[in-house]
Amino acid sequence: MRKKIVAGNWKMNKTFQDAEDLVSTIADELDGVDTACEVVLCPPFPYLEMASDYADESGLQIAAQNVSEFEDGAYTGEVSASMLASIEIGYCIVGHSERRKYFGETNAQLATKVEKLLDHAIRPIFCIGELLEERNANNHFEVVKRQLDEGLFQLNKDEFKEVVIAYEPVWAIGTGVTATSAQAQEMHAFIRQQITGKYGKPVADQTTILYGGSCNAKNAAELFSNPDVDGGLIGGASLVAEDFIKIVKSF
Ligand code: PEP
Repeated sequence: MRKKIVAGNWKMNKTFQDAEDLVSTIADELDGVDTACEVVLCPPFPYLEMASDYADESGLQIAAQNVSEFEDGAYTGEVSASMLASIEIGYCIVGHSERRKYFGETNAQLATKVEKLLDHAIRPIFCIGELLEERNANNHFEVVKRQLDEGLFQLNKDEFKEVVIAYEPVWAIGTGVTATSAQAQEMHAFIRQQITGKYGKPVADQTTILYGGSCNAKNAAELFSNPDVDGGLIGGASLVAEDFIKIVKSF
């Protein structure tokens, strides 16, 4: 059976003390609980090591929210995959729509970031998803297919097996407008079909595909009940321990 994951993307939120309170509360609440999913926290860079210390004791996984496309050297402000590996970070979000929108990240750059992460044994959580106007124009499948083709399908089969995909319709992120269960399932099934076409059914059947976009404690169970939805990438609702834990327990 493929892995279920609930990942909390904290984005650029929380002071160090607030971040420590959140991670320690989540670690305490989940201590000894046999969750049906892996739980991944994605704090900002300065808190990764602190969060990793809690994770070591509690079985949580820690992810970065971004990585440099460069290996190392004179790239002021960047953080490399080798740096993340050196503090034993297990996952990294790549291609979040906010990175694409505000920092102009392209599918080609994202493909390089994915390769850098895999070179350092870090699993990418690769985000894809269409804008509202693309869905309204009925181009959503085409957009998602292009993001897969240009961002991920350069990988060989063994490399691809390490990737987690997050389908995040951009119109649902931070808006309170969640994709319907049917819309999520339809797109997840489409993504799995594309993976089948490229890498074969056994690989597609093992690929974890998360839903993201205004997923919360109230709607998570319904979204996660779909056969091709393997969990969630959670933004706003991951900042409140109680809500996030309810989502983790939604399977
Ligand atoms: C996200 O940023 O990945 C996200 C899904 O945000 P939210 O849950 O707040 O819509």
